[in-house]
Amino acid sequence: MASPVPFSPQELDDLNPDDLTELIRCFLSFSSNPLENIHRLVNLGRELTGGLCACYQSRSQTEPVKKPGQESLTCIMDDSSRSTCSRRQLDHPGDSPPLNLLRCPACKCQTDGVSQNWVITDDIHGKLSMRHDPLNPVTSEQTRILSLIARAIAIEEDRLYEQERQRLRQQREIVVGQIAQQIRKSLDLQDILHSTVQSLMEFLEADRVIICRINEDGKGEILQEARNAEIPSMIDWVLSDPWLVDQKCHRDYLSGQVLVIEDMQKANLEPGLQQLMDFFKVRARLVMPIILTQDVEAEGGEKDLNAGEPWGLLMVHQCYHPRQWQTDEINLLPQLATQLVIAIQQAQLYEQVQIANRELSELATQDGLTQICNRRRFDAYLDHEWRRLLRSQAPLSLILLDIDWFKQYNDTYGHLAGDQCLQQVAQSLKKSMQRSTDLVARYGGEEFAIILPDTTETGAQFLAEQVRSQIAHMPILDIGSHGNSSISHQVTVSIGVASHVPFPEASPKLLIAAADSALYRAKEQGRNRVCLANAADFAQTD
Ligand code: GH3
Ligand code: MG
Ligand code: MG
Repeated sequence: MASPVPFSPQELDDLNPDDLTELIRCFLSFSSNPLENIHRLVNLGRELTGGLCACYQSRSQTEPVKKPGQESLTCIMDDSSRSTCSRRQLDHPGDSPPLNLLRCPACKCQTDGVSQNWVITDDIHGKLSMRHDPLNPVTSEQTRILSLIARAIAIEEDRLYEQERQRLRQQREIVVGQIAQQIRKSLDLQDILHSTVQSLMEFLEADRVIICRINEDGKGEILQEARNAEIPSMIDWVLSDPWLVDQKCHRDYLSGQVLVIEDMQKANLEPGLQQLMDFFKVRARLVMPIILTQDVEAEGGEKDLNAGEPWGLLMVHQCYHPRQWQTDEINLLPQLATQLVIAIQQAQLYEQVQIANRELSELATQDGLTQICNRRRFDAYLDHEWRRLLRSQAPLSLILLDIDWFKQYNDTYGHLAGDQCLQQVAQSLKKSMQRSTDLVARYGGEEFAIILPDTTETGAQFLAEQVRSQIAHMPILDIGSHGNSSISHQVTVSIGVASHVPFPEASPKLLIAAADSALYRAKEQGRNRVCLANAADFAQTD
């Protein structure tokens, strides 16, 4: 910001006492609003110099320009908060000279006969134009006054500029704060990316903001986009060269800097890339790489803080016309990228935890040896299905199955072969299941169970018979090159089947006990057979 330009004592001495008094009175009436003060100064300038009409045109809020002639002055009539006009009230409207003699772009005043003063401190702020009666030209004393007033306006402009910067800075803090808060609240990365592009778009009043993920093949996939409705969407596009820059810029990117392009047409892009930018109407842009920090140990055991993995890009597009990006606007991007890195790493961590949790819960419900459901899962599922079928009043069947003479098997072939036999039986049972609702579990030792929801006794008996026959024909103990034997042993199973429509007075224990009784009978009757639970089997468990 330019420092206020003081008036020298000599300059003030040169003023006539009345003008000096008016000038001081004007300063004393200053408010905290620089625009109001500028308006007062323009009025004062017109009054002290006897002007017919005064107009102050302020530059639009772009970056400061150092030389007159480079600035783009905008004077947007009286409704613009940045410009101000002042006209003398005539006692008799219609008296000459008419009020509309001036014709500047703002108040449509004529330009000839207008005296103009640049309002300049370190920067050009605007232009103070004054229309005087040609019969009564400006004196040198009045010119001095106008130049003092122009300087006072410049000081107010500086204050205005600083106020605007403060406002932008505060807004930037708010945007970053909001995103940080959302990251704390949410683990959903897509949600966070979505609100980031929305907030950034709102803050910068840009035409398009996108977040592009750089995949392992180096291609860029647009994950999120906020845009003005009339601008073509980039969502679902895959950019073959998401960086869209030369090697040097690529290096800058990787060092985490914002790439600032005010005018794409002057950026010397390859024709193909220029075409792409033209297709999406991009005329100016900001690009911020999102680089995940990695804890990489450099030589000597120290952490290499620069090592990072480029995750993607945060891009801001201004369409149709170039844009002079403000420092505060540019500075927002690295702050947001830092927040996004936190969100991405948090989401990655969350995903890892979820995978670990899934694995843990599988472990908790799976039998380690046979990789089928364990007893715990069996109990929970049987209980669940009992209650479900109690409501729908459909039959629930249970098959209990025990390997025959398994102790002997172990004694003959060893425990390792016994384990393998259990695995083979388990796989065979799993394959026999036809419905996704059927559940095979290791009930304990060499006993297995099959829960068959919505299955009648006949259906369960049929399946049990199939299972029995399949195992009886399985070449178990064919360990081959993995073990010490290649002979085949005929393993058989005995099976008890119980089926019932659940009723409120009973529990799933009823089915287990009845199936167990039937299984005991199958053993007694000579093994390698299926027995159905009868009324007595159900009755004994009451
Ligand atoms: P039955 O026909 O009456 O069922 O006779 P069985 O020998 O199969 O019954 P018993 O209850 O006498 O023996 C069960 C055997 O199953 C004893 C035990 O060593 C074996 N067993 C239980 N769990 C495992 C296991 O995880 N691995 C191995 N290898 N053997 C097991
Ligand atoms: Mg047993
Ligand atoms: Mg047994």
